[in-house]
Amino acid sequence: MKKHIALIQGDGIGPEIVAEAKKVLNQIAQLYHHTFTYEMVVMGGCSIDLFGEPLTDEMLEKAKNSDAVLLGAVGGDVGNSKWYQVPPQARPEAALLKLRKELHLFANIRPAYLYPQLQNACPLKKEVIGDGFDLVIVRELTGGVYFGNRKTETINGITRASDEMAYDENEIRRIAKKAFEIARKRRKQVVSVDKANVLDTSRLWRKVVSEVVKEYEDVTLSHMLVDNCAMQLVKNPKQFDVILTENMFGDILSDEASMITGSIGMLSSASLGEGTFGLYEPSHGSAPDIAGKNIANPIATILSAAMLLRYSFDLEKEADCIEEAVSKVLDEGYRTADIFTEGCKLVGTEEMGTLICNYLKEHNLKYG
Ligand code: NAD
Repeated sequence: MKKHIALIQGDGIGPEIVAEAKKVLNQIAQLYHHTFTYEMVVMGGCSIDLFGEPLTDEMLEKAKNSDAVLLGAVGGDVGNSKWYQVPPQARPEAALLKLRKELHLFANIRPAYLYPQLQNACPLKKEVIGDGFDLVIVRELTGGVYFGNRKTETINGITRASDEMAYDENEIRRIAKKAFEIARKRRKQVVSVDKANVLDTSRLWRKVVSEVVKEYEDVTLSHMLVDNCAMQLVKNPKQFDVILTENMFGDILSDEASMITGSIGMLSSASLGEGTFGLYEPSHGSAPDIAGKNIANPIATILSAAMLLRYSFDLEKEADCIEEAVSKVLDEGYRTADIFTEGCKLVGTEEMGTLICNYLKEHNLKYG
């Protein structure tokens, strides 16, 4: 298979973690006889430095012309960096909104999986986590309050700000379908999360999701209010398979879900549109505090590359191999600093990437 991948290194630890994911993709290409070509797309703070804006139209075009995009992370130290002395639309993170919108990526898929090897990192009590949890948050990504009209005005000396939260039924229908399709490949249970006791958008959400599920008779749907869901995630995360929710609720709940795995450096994500095109990135940010030290955990980005192979290129076996390699390397006790515990072997960013590649090579010798 021949595929063209846009690589966005971004800022902070971005270049270090993307380099390791590329190494793993190249290893897969070699083992399974694929050809992956790459296009470097400059985005974020580094683009502000070079071109005066976080994402130029020319770079956006390069991303659009690829088969899939793999992104590290963008942004710097929000308190200190010069990138934040400008209006919000000129800051590094504005590029993310532009990219998602322009690529029509309306579905964000964020797995929260507690690796058995990392149970000690989970902040929840052992009796709560039991034998672990494995859930996916499907978040609507291009609607709701983050994209509604906003205004700040001062009338009679009083300043007032407002942000509009809006959804139409088509936006809800297409994300609901994605969630049900993902659930079909898992344990077939969807919890749709809203605030239908207060918000009109949520009442429409609940109505449309309840209609769409009729096309998916093998999937079970239930509804939960967002405040309850926030509690249930820490009380009994095992109850969830797929959580379907709108943009802002999903933003908050997916961070909570990643936190309870105890290791943000392990969590991948995918942003998908209608076809096979997708944007894949770790769930964490650019971690400027540890950038350039070869200590960042590259696993979230490597697992994002696995999601890229699965969702955009339909290379299920190759994706499985990467996930198995990650698990195997953890079994062998290798850890980057963020997931390190006594008795384990501390490794850097590059070494972790190499260990995963080495396992892939050995695995192919065994089963190839
Ligand atoms: P962050 O996720 O970058 O860092 C939070 C903490 O987790 C830090 O202590 C960091 O060192 C650690 N961490 C994150 N990833 C790690 C990894 N792979 N290995 C080891 N440790 C890791 O969040 P933040 O500090 O709130 O944000 C930093 C910058 O990233 C900001 O500019 C923010 O706007 C940006 N950001 C970008 C994205 C994105 O590009 N999608 C997402 C979130 C935040």
